[in-house]
Amino acid sequence: MELLKQLVVFFWDFFSPVPCAVCGGEYNRTDGPVCPLCSRVAQPVVTAGNPSEYLSGRYFYFSYILSLFLYNSEIQSLIISFKEKERVDLASYFGSIAAGCKEIFAANFDVITAVPLSRLKQSERGYNQSELFARQLSRFSGKPYKQFLRCKGGKKIQKKLSYEHRSFNCIGRYDPVKQVVCPERVLLVDDVVTTGATLNECSRILKKMGALTVFSLTIARVDI
Ligand SMILES: [Zn+2]
Repeated sequence: MELLKQLVVFFWDFFSPVPCAVCGGEYNRTDGPVCPLCSRVAQPVVTAGNPSEYLSGRYFYFSYILSLFLYNSEIQSLIISFKEKERVDLASYFGSIAAGCKEIFAANFDVITAVPLSRLKQSERGYNQSELFARQLSRFSGKPYKQFLRCKGGKKIQKKLSYEHRSFNCIGRYDPVKQVVCPERVLLVDDVVTTGATLNECSRILKKMGALTVFSLTIARVDI
């Protein structure tokens, strides 16, 4: 009976129209969560390199940053669908794009982890989008996923603050998960990078926990 139920759900999902994760329009889903029209403008633009090439800041605790998309209005809609509209199916879409990037495996990391959400945010949303993305990359790449950090909450990170203010806002926001030692080479995953302050603070803690090198991966990068 359970199998029959699963089969019905599978075929219902497969044949029923699903809104496009960018424009919200309905289309016959044959080729992923984005309709053919939006696919043309929501193409991955992978950038990878030293954080100082893309982000402003004086010192980085992570040595590499890879982003799948450059932020624009279509990518913003895609991220909002993922974060705010329960489109958790996008995790495997992003995971498969990331797993196809040769740049990511050049980093030769031991383990994947994600920037945690505060307990309040996690319970409001019901999931941590960065963790879902990281877990899908783990599934596609065969590299293990492990949670090393927890978010203590505190002040809301202000989107419009400068790098210095944002860095200051982030300090002390994250804690190690108790009694966990970090492997030497870690891939830290987040949804969007703007100033890099969150990635930097998480990387600082990961290094305290034993990491020698932290690489970072985000779905999108905002140029400021
Ligand atoms: Zn669309």
